Amino acid sequence: MARLCVDFGGTNIKMGLARNGVLTSTREFPVGGAAGDLDAVVAAAASLGAEPGEIDVVALAVPGLIDAAGTRLALAHGKYDWMIGADLVEWAQRSFGAVGIVENDARAALIGEVASGSAAGETDAVILVLGTGIGTAAMVDGQMLRGASGAGGNLGGHVTIDWNGPACNCGNIGCAEVFGGSWALRDRVADLVEISTDGGSRALWRERFADAAPLGFAELLDRAESGDTIAVLARDQAIRAWAVVAVTCCHLVEPSAIVIAGGVARAAGHVVPVIQEYVREHIWRVLPMPRFIVSDAPELSVLRGLMALGGPA
Ligand SMILES: [Zn+2]
Repeated sequence: MARLCVDFGGTNIKMGLARNGVLTSTREFPVGGAAGDLDAVVAAAASLGAEPGEIDVVALAVPGLIDAAGTRLALAHGKYDWMIGADLVEWAQRSFGAVGIVENDARAALIGEVASGSAAGETDAVILVLGTGIGTAAMVDGQMLRGASGAGGNLGGHVTIDWNGPACNCGNIGCAEVFGGSWALRDRVADLVEISTDGGSRALWRERFADAAPLGFAELLDRAESGDTIAVLARDQAIRAWAVVAVTCCHLVEPSAIVIAGGVARAAGHVVPVIQEYVREHIWRVLPMPRFIVSDAPELSVLRGLMALGGPA
C-alpha cells in the first residue's frame, strides 16, 4: 500500500508517494489558487506511479488553521480562500478511496523535522517556517501543542510586535508577519522607499516596482547583499521580526531546540546567527539558550511530516 502526501504551499503544491516510509517519487507544480487545484492533485497523483487502488492514505498539509475535527481548513488567506470549509477527508475518500489526514503545514513540518529530519529525537521544540508567512508549531514534552480548537502553537507569526504598526491580514495590528512575511514585503519596502534619504536606492526600487512581480526574500537578500540601503533595512527588519517571534516562543513554551525551516532556511548562513544573537541577548536570563537547528532540506520537511502522521505508511 502507499501514502500520497500533498503539501499545499504558498507558491507550489508538492506531492510525494511513500511506500514503507520511503518517498518513491515526488512532483511539484504551481498553485492555481482555485478549487481546480484539487483536480490537479488527482491528475498529478497518476503520474507518481501508484498502482490503481494502491493509495490507502492521503495526508494533506494546508497553509492555515485546521478545524478541531482535523478534516477542514478553518482559516486561510490568499490563494487558499476557496479551500475553507471543504471536507478534505471526504475528498480523499471520494477521489482515492483512501483515509484522509489533514494537518497544518507548520505542524507537519515540525513533525517531519522531529521524526526524520534535522531535529530527530527532540521532544521540546519550536519550528519557525519563514517564507510567505511565519508559520509556527510547538512540541512540548513530546506532544504536539494543539490547543482547544487545533490552532495551538500555530499563531506565533501573529504576535503583535508594533501596536502602532500596519494592519495584518488576520485582523490584528502590527503582527510579526507584517514585517517578516513575504506576502507583506512589497508594502514594507514601499514604506521604506517613502522615508529613505538614499536617492539611488529609491530610484532602483521605483524601477523594480514598475514590475508587478511579487517580491520574495531571495530577491531581497540578494539586493541587500549588493549593498542596497533600503533592501538592507527591510532585511534587518524582517530578521528582527523573526528573532522577536523566537524570543516569544522561548518565553511561552521553553523549547530546547528552535528549528528554522521554509524558504529562508536556504539563506540561513546570514540570517540564523543574527536571530541567535538577538535571542541570546533578550530571553529571560535564567532560561537556557535553545539550540538552533536549520533544516537540512526545508523543501522536504512538510512531506516528511505527512509521511509520519498517524504512524508509518
Ligand atoms: Zn496577524
